[in-house]
Amino acid sequence: MAVQKKTSPRKSNTVRLKFDTAWPYSPAPESKSAAQIKPQYDLFINGEWQKPLTKKYFKTINPASEQVLSEVADAGEADVNKAVNAARAAYDKHWKNMPAKERGKYIFRIARIIQERARELAVIETLDGGKPIKESRDFDIPAAANHFFYYAGWADKLEYAFPNRRPEALGVAAQIIPWNFPLLMTAWKIAPALATGNTVVLKPAETTPLTALTLADIIRESDLPPGVVNIITGAGNTGAAMVNHPDVNKIAFTGSTEVGKIIQRSIAGTDKKSTLELGGKAANIIFDDAPIDQAVEGVINAIYFNQGHVCCAGSRLYVQESVAKEVIRKLKDRLESLIVGDPMDKNTDIGAINSRSQLDIIHKYIKIGKMEGADMYESSCKLPGKGYFVRPTMFTNVAQSNRIAQEEIFGPVLSVLTFRTDDEVIEKANNTPYGLSAGVWTDKGSKIFNMTRRMKAGVVWANTFNKFDPASPFGGYKESGFGREGGLHGLSAYVNLRNL
Ligand code: NAP
Ligand code: MG
Repeated sequence: MAVQKKTSPRKSNTVRLKFDTAWPYSPAPESKSAAQIKPQYDLFINGEWQKPLTKKYFKTINPASEQVLSEVADAGEADVNKAVNAARAAYDKHWKNMPAKERGKYIFRIARIIQERARELAVIETLDGGKPIKESRDFDIPAAANHFFYYAGWADKLEYAFPNRRPEALGVAAQIIPWNFPLLMTAWKIAPALATGNTVVLKPAETTPLTALTLADIIRESDLPPGVVNIITGAGNTGAAMVNHPDVNKIAFTGSTEVGKIIQRSIAGTDKKSTLELGGKAANIIFDDAPIDQAVEGVINAIYFNQGHVCCAGSRLYVQESVAKEVIRKLKDRLESLIVGDPMDKNTDIGAINSRSQLDIIHKYIKIGKMEGADMYESSCKLPGKGYFVRPTMFTNVAQSNRIAQEEIFGPVLSVLTFRTDDEVIEKANNTPYGLSAGVWTDKGSKIFNMTRRMKAGVVWANTFNKFDPASPFGGYKESGFGREGGLHGLSAYVNLRNL
């Protein structure tokens, strides 16, 4: 009798090895116990925790589990007024006249306590915002401490920063920050303001207030005179009340271009100084002489790092036509190996999207990309059942005029375009309303200099991406804002320069 052979459906020759199924990593979760999150937070005004006059609180959740972590005060206009008054009194009474060397000591102290409490801060950052623990632990928190260290060093050396001029503090700075790098943005704002002798009222974003509130605790521990730093929480209205307060001298804002424009309109005709760090749509350019594997890894870092919640993310990739096929194939393979899931797991590459509304925006743009006729490729990874997650996604055959090539998505979605000549890619790279950052991958130094000179972007990385240092300035062209944070330039944003 003939043996009936079992037939299986014909398989294609291409087998895509799935990294997570072929060599699964065991879970390596960081412990939540490192974070002591209080059930409720009041406003940090004049060195103490004060109940909001509104008597209102709102919840902050963990976007990876949708569980409530804590509730925080919702500051109204009267609370903002209290905070600004406390900052003004501290400026007049203590801070303005304190010897610069003493000011520097406090900032050093804050930096050291951040280092001591780094693990706790990293865990809180990841729980509250959804970013992978390896990023909070290895990037956000150390970079925040570095920023305080760097500006602590400047406090008593301002005469060298501004030779033959007399730098004078502005007074009270109102500082408003977004949700993508909560503690790091807090450091970018507070450290240079204190070093130059200003006092501060800072508001973190609604969805990620917890590390800024933990910093309030650190500031108390540092014995900084009360009122020099005030940290208040609330939504957009709270930010607007800060901007419109008549006793504020300086607005430092990082966030969307849309809100940046509202702020500019509100302060027009006043003598308030401002710096605005806004959105971006960075071009990342790969020439055919680039080290391709290194460039592919750089592209992954540029757009999928921190779920693409990065203002300077390399969200537009321009590949020279002759190497486009190879780059796209390698990118697809690499996308498959990215580990998406629990942000508290030390192996996770892509964590949770920060909020439901941001997830909706990303889905909206993925739909737009498909409707515009681009080809979509997404990783085949499984997504957790709860929480806000999206697969790392890439569009090819994108046209320069497509919305996915022009508008900021702020998620792990890459648009790939091709080019033939230097002139063509420069024209395309500069052709968006933004100009925050860009990247160039090539073997030739001369090409790098040619590109950096002609690209309208505040930062241009060469053969790398998303590298930050407190000593180097950061900021944009066009609708990406104005003013610089970081480095020597970051000091100028907080002083008036007088003649000697
Ligand atoms: P956003 O909506 O502009 O919010 C930023 C901050 O402003 C939040 O604290 C927000 O409070 C507050 N705010 C909202 N409306 C306000 C108003 N009318 N007046 C004053 N403050 C107001 O931006 P986001 O969605 O949080 O952040 C994402 C954006 O930030 C992206 O466009 C990204 O490119 C940009 N970003 C830029 C940089 C840079 O350095 N250039 C860095 C990081 C992010 P609520 O949270 O309560 O709404
Ligand atoms: Mg949260």
